[in-house]
Amino acid sequence: MTPELGEDGTVLSGSLYPPSSNPCSNCQAVCCTSRIETSIPDMVDFCFGLGVPFHTAFELAENGLKPFELEEGPRIFVLQRSDDGYCRFLGRYGDELRCGVYGLRPATCQLYPFTFRTEDQRIGPKLIRCPVPFGIKPDLKKEMTRAATKALTDWALHDALVKRWKRKKKRSLDRFLRFCVKEVYAHRGQELPNLDKSVMFSSLSSKERAFQDSVERGFF
Ligand code: SF4
Ligand code: SF4
Repeated sequence: MTPELGEDGTVLSGSLYPPSSNPCSNCQAVCCTSRIETSIPDMVDFCFGLGVPFHTAFELAENGLKPFELEEGPRIFVLQRSDDGYCRFLGRYGDELRCGVYGLRPATCQLYPFTFRTEDQRIGPKLIRCPVPFGIKPDLKKEMTRAATKALTDWALHDALVKRWKRKKKRSLDRFLRFCVKEVYAHRGQELPNLDKSVMFSSLSSKERAFQDSVERGFF
C-alpha cells in the first residue's frame, strides 16, 4: 500500500520503508520504458493537442486490455518507443530526463505508478517499477483523484466506441481514426475540425520532420 504523507512529508499511514515525497526527481524515468496503452479520447487529444500525425506518435499493438477490431485483427494504441526502449517523447536535458509532452501525456502516464479500480475493472500498470519508494501528499492525492476520474470517463467512452465500431463492416485504420475523432468531438459537443486538412492524417512532411527533430532535442 502506498504510504500517505502529511503536507510536511511526515508519514501518516504505515510504511515498511521511508517514502519519498518527490521520487521522480531521483529516478531515471523508468516508467517511460513501459508500454503506454492509450484510450481513444487520449489518442485524439494527443494528436490534436500537439498537432502531430497519428503514425509518428502511436503504433498498434496486440494483446491489449481493451482492443478494437481492425482488418488485421484486435489492436490497441500504444505510444511509440525509441531504439533505446524509452518513449519517443521523453526529453533529454543534459543528464536529466523529463517528459517532453507533460501537459498532454496519456492517463496511463499521469497516474503511474498508481492503479485504480471500479466495480468491474482495474486500470493501471500490472508491474510497478518505481525504484524510489513513493509517498503520497494531500495535493498529489487530489491530483491523482482528478486524473483517475477523467481516465475512467475516457475509458468508458473508449468502451462504448469500441462496441459501436464493431458494427461497422469496413475496418481500415484510416476509417477507424476518422470514426474516433468524429465520435470524441461529438461526445464533447465540440465543432469537428476538417479531417482532410488535419495534421493527424497527414503523411511524412517537412513539418513532421521538424517536429521529430524538436522532440529529439527535447523542446517539448
Ligand atoms: S513514476 Fe516511478 S518510475 Fe516513473 S519517474 Fe517517478 S519514480 Fe520513476
Ligand atoms: S508521454 Fe511522457 S510520461 Fe508518458 S512515457 Fe512518454 S515521456 Fe514518459
